Amino acid sequence: MVKILVINAGSSSVKFQLYNYPSQVVCKGLCERLFVDGKFTLEINDKKIKLDVPMNSHKEAIQVILDNFKKHNIIKDYNEIKIIGHRVVQGGSVYKESTLIDESVILKLEELSKLAPLHNPGAVNVMKIFAKLCPESKSVAVFDTSFHQTMPEKNFIYPVPYSWYEDHQVRRYGMHGTSSRYIVKKIRSELNLKEGNIINCHLGNGASITAIKNWKGYNTSMGLTPLAGIMMGTRSGDIDPAILEYVSKITKKDVFELTNILNKESGLLGVSGISSDMRDIIAAVEKGNKRAIVALDIYISKIVNYISMYQNDLENKTEAIVFTAGIGENASLIREMVIEKLHIIDVTIDKAKNNQRISEMTKISTDNSQVDVYVIPTDEEIMIAQDAYNIINK
Ligand code: AMP
Repeated sequence: MVKILVINAGSSSVKFQLYNYPSQVVCKGLCERLFVDGKFTLEINDKKIKLDVPMNSHKEAIQVILDNFKKHNIIKDYNEIKIIGHRVVQGGSVYKESTLIDESVILKLEELSKLAPLHNPGAVNVMKIFAKLCPESKSVAVFDTSFHQTMPEKNFIYPVPYSWYEDHQVRRYGMHGTSSRYIVKKIRSELNLKEGNIINCHLGNGASITAIKNWKGYNTSMGLTPLAGIMMGTRSGDIDPAILEYVSKITKKDVFELTNILNKESGLLGVSGISSDMRDIIAAVEKGNKRAIVALDIYISKIVNYISMYQNDLENKTEAIVFTAGIGENASLIREMVIEKLHIIDVTIDKAKNNQRISEMTKISTDNSQVDVYVIPTDEEIMIAQDAYNIINK
């Protein structure tokens, strides 16, 4: 067995999961609110440890993680961690697959940071820190974008001057690809499907819809960045781009401030004025809150529209619609509303199956449904651990 640490570093948080690969998850947790105050959570053997620890850099966060591994006898020495798998949001057109990290990869990722300024710099920073703290470990980068690299040009070129693509790499990249890869792997191992055309609804705080054709990425709702596509917790998803100029003129806010608002103060939070958390939105809808009702209506309609569009993209030959991630896996009401409003496909769900608590792949459609509907708990971490292990042991 080999200790593999999976790291998902953002600009102000670092999530981790440690495996005794291949058999078990040893522990998992999160450093959050970096640069603000610092909160550390460690889950080990059904125990949840929560600490307030000031963390003013990614380095301090990594140190807190490793120190707690030692403190709780998870490891005796940092070098017991043999492999580290890093989630990287943006791999550009360069990385069509996961890759071993070396100095040239770090340089390339730094270059790519301009495409994902909110996400890539944290990951690159953390790779460098681990290289110093665990010098005997080997690291692998696993990209959110790589699954979507099979998209045809018509689905990734934007209708803007072509030089933006050629000179500045402006194109649709798509995210949540590691989740889609897990869903494909799971469905392929469980079912005997002839075509392998799937519409994957990854509905978490960040959310995207992906059309998968013959098990490969064909179209996806996120774009150059995770801001595009359907409405999300705090992100707007697709809007008229000219809104930026209009609001900028009135409010005197520049494009950076406005993009920040589209990322952090829009979506469910922006419309409802209540919360970005779907549980709060549903609770407010049940109390009759008008803005929460509008927010939920928009949310559902964006998902339904993307599914309808992708059903057409897949030439009406979709084998399965999948719901995954926090909302997709847990919010039966959202699944029911989406399916109810989806008029273009004759799908019916079994309400009893939909309303049960779901912890493993479950079919929630009836047998006479035109397309099967599944809830599949996603597992991006195991995909990252597997990729890391396979690349190191190639
Ligand atoms: P994720 O980003 O995948 O962790 O998903 C986070 C989202 O899942 C948040 O909006 C949560 O409100 C939502 N979520 C988690 N559990 C439930 C639930 N039981 N009902 C509705 N939404 C949920």
